[in-house]
Amino acid sequence: MFKKKSNRSLLLIFILTIIPLLRWFVIAPANKFVDLGLISTSFGQMSGLAGMVLFSVALILSNRSKWLDKAFGGLDNAYANHHILGGAAFTLLIFHPLLLVVRYARISWANAASLFFTNDFPVLLGIIGLGLMMILLYLTFFVKDKISYQVWKTTHSILPLALFFGGLHSFLIPSSIFYDQFLRIYILGLAIIALLLTGYKIANERLTKRKLEYVVSKVTHLADDVIEVELLPQNESLKFSPGQFIFVKFKGEGIASEAHPFSISSGIFDKSLKLAIKVLGDYTAVLNKDLKEGMAAEIEGPYGQFSIASGKADEIWVAGGIGITPFLSMARSLNKNEFNVDFFYSFKGGKDAIFLDEFFKIAKTNEKFRVFSWCSSDQGKISCRSINEIKEVKSKEIFLCGPGPMMEDLKSQFLSYGVPAENIHFEKFNL
Ligand SMILES: Cc1cc2nc3c(=O)[nH]c(=O)nc-3n(C[C@H](O)[C@H](O)[C@H](O)COP(=O)(O)OP(=O)(O)OC[C@H]3O[C@@H](n4cnc5c(N)ncnc54)[C@H](O)[C@@H]3O)c2cc1C
Repeated sequence: MFKKKSNRSLLLIFILTIIPLLRWFVIAPANKFVDLGLISTSFGQMSGLAGMVLFSVALILSNRSKWLDKAFGGLDNAYANHHILGGAAFTLLIFHPLLLVVRYARISWANAASLFFTNDFPVLLGIIGLGLMMILLYLTFFVKDKISYQVWKTTHSILPLALFFGGLHSFLIPSSIFYDQFLRIYILGLAIIALLLTGYKIANERLTKRKLEYVVSKVTHLADDVIEVELLPQNESLKFSPGQFIFVKFKGEGIASEAHPFSISSGIFDKSLKLAIKVLGDYTAVLNKDLKEGMAAEIEGPYGQFSIASGKADEIWVAGGIGITPFLSMARSLNKNEFNVDFFYSFKGGKDAIFLDEFFKIAKTNEKFRVFSWCSSDQGKISCRSINEIKEVKSKEIFLCGPGPMMEDLKSQFLSYGVPAENIHFEKFNL
């Protein structure tokens, strides 16, 4: 069902993008495609219009909100579309001036250069907006892995300013579009909506978004690089569905004041809220070392639609490494499940098989829940073929959580075994 919702949202984005292009086709002048200069100008205008719509929509999709979570079948999916649309907007907006300049270049190179070296205010707004966008998205596409997540996030948060300049540019620039009120208002209006939503998001996060206060009641080291954290509510407890995740900000000496996403690993009947946290970078390394009982934690959420299709047909769960956490919550919450669940847990070596004993214990008390462990250092990578030899996969709902490449790999394998795309569900650990 949530795939359908996501498709509906994508259709809406497509319609939003096509509307100004259709409008552009019907407005004057009629001779838009008669020679090379006009053809490239026309494509330049179209790429500018579509690029601005997609830029606005990409910004809207970056908001951390429950309605996006629902509309896209999970925040991770909304963010994945945010990345794709941001990339598409970036490409279209780069082509916008390049195509427009062709008409000037046909007269002379000096004429072409005059388009960029100008003191014309609306053109300058466009150049500043595009320049800012190019620098910031270069960091996202080519440097993100080399800088810390927080530094990248700070640079990324300047992008609305680029949209602001771009919106004003398209409203003020004297071109054939300038004389069409509908197009001017449409493009500026979408940019304003995106900017207002972003402003609202920031204010809401800082001032009003409800955060629940918890306190760390226990920290257990499960492996060198994994801790289990138990949290107790100070006042109200979080209501969640198994498989969902939260943003947590721990408050303690030496711990940066940042909200990070973690899947809830406790069951819905447990008294404490549990998380299992693996060291991945700076923040999680500090938690591993310094997180102590008695420290406060601020919790926001829950988010995620991972298990929404659960309980509707026989299921196959596949976890890789720390991707175990949402399944832990789902298994701990199983009561009298009507449908069969076959759980495949892949880990590198024996010492990495955290919580395996607990899964076997749950399986002993629940005949419809079966556990299959997969040690990849002995057995190689887990594959759809090996799963299918144990359980026929075709008619099942598949749930995957693990490292990105493993999920991509398994997804295409399940598809090639005839599992419909809408029966394959992911939880991605990167937003
Ligand atoms: C939905 C979801 C559920 C998750 N559940 C778990 C879990 O149960 N157990 C677990 O160990 N890990 C989980 N993670 C991953 C965890 O959030 C990252 O490992 C952690 O934030 C890394 O922070 P770092 O500073 O140590 O590493 P860094 O090296 O700074 O970050 C590594 C990567 O983690 C992501 N990341 C970092 N900071 C943030 C942030 N503030 N917000 C969003 N993404 C961020 C980015 O993709 C980044 O590239 C989950 C992630 C997501 C998105």
